[in-house]
Amino acid sequence: MSSVVIIKDSFDELPKALAFIAASHRKVCIVTDENVSKLYAEPVISSVEALENHTFIYEIKPGESSKNPETVHCIYDFLIENRFNRDDYVIALGGGVVGDVAGFAASTFKRGLHFIQVPTTLLAMIDSSIGGKTGVNYHGLKNVIGSFCFPKLIYINKNVLSSLPEVERANGMAELIKTGILSSNGFNPEIEKCIDFKKLITAEDPDDEHKRHILNFGHTIGHALEEYYGYAQKHGQCVALGMICALDISASRGWISSELVDELRDVLAQNGLKTCIRIPDPLKISELCHSDKKIQNNRIQFILLKGMGNPVIAEDVTDEEILKSLEAINE
Ligand code: NAD
Ligand code: ZN
Repeated sequence: MSSVVIIKDSFDELPKALAFIAASHRKVCIVTDENVSKLYAEPVISSVEALENHTFIYEIKPGESSKNPETVHCIYDFLIENRFNRDDYVIALGGGVVGDVAGFAASTFKRGLHFIQVPTTLLAMIDSSIGGKTGVNYHGLKNVIGSFCFPKLIYINKNVLSSLPEVERANGMAELIKTGILSSNGFNPEIEKCIDFKKLITAEDPDDEHKRHILNFGHTIGHALEEYYGYAQKHGQCVALGMICALDISASRGWISSELVDELRDVLAQNGLKTCIRIPDPLKISELCHSDKKIQNNRIQFILLKGMGNPVIAEDVTDEEILKSLEAINE
């Protein structure tokens, strides 16, 4: 279940990492998207071929609209056409979309091929590539079909972040700041620290039954905001606003100081994230919180804070508290 995680500043050590997990003399299908392919397919192909593998590349269209069963079916067809077997490998080279689609295809094709993640967005490096979850959207429902699939190897070349568009960097920064708060590593933790934290929490609760729910900090209201705006606002942006609400509720309960909420706002703003937004119908947001997938026994689950590094799972947050916290982000 545990993955080998290698964090470097180049692809130079990818062949060594592939050799370490014995990924040689096999068929390897690199699934990537058209943007990432242009930038980084070549060094990954050379690394794979250095181990005398037979390399195939499958490109998908960039973006969330590719994260669906049709894309998975096309990958199945490609693997069948090229006679892939259970000893063979799928490498996801890209952001969370590529990782989720390729991972789901890899974990279900012939009951599971070997899987490797080479994440290229900040979000994929610290979040989606770690933790073994894959999934696709279906009939407008996010991640409703999926599997657990722990990659054999996660190879991170931090240098690829230099080409990441600003909006994608900000999207990942929201999750990085979230991890810093949860892990007590400050508001701007190193990528390595975020990865260690996610690995630790995942190892304690691989099936996502309890402990891992703390990673949902900022996500209860965050998911509601995403749905409210018809997914026109980025996930990280909505989580950023959700974190302000969660801290506002925590401060109102007297668990943390209001200065911590102000500090969070400053950090988010410094990283290109909005700290308020126009919410014409706040009641709708509290309604949407009730349909969040993390709902347990008909109670909304919130991750609140009793201090940096001290998250608590709360199931007693009232609609009044939600509505009051929304005032903290309503323009
Ligand atoms: P993404 O995969 O859509 O990538 C964002 C954009 O950046 C794309 O256009 C891509 O082509 C481009 N890009 C990627 N790397 C680049 C680079 N180095 N340089 C230039 N451009 C680059 O977005 P994302 O934010 O990485 O992933 C979002 C997805 O991750 C969502 O579908 C979400 O549900 C999923 N996710 C999954 C998990 C999980 O545990 N499986 C966790 C969090 C998020
Ligand atoms: Zn998230």
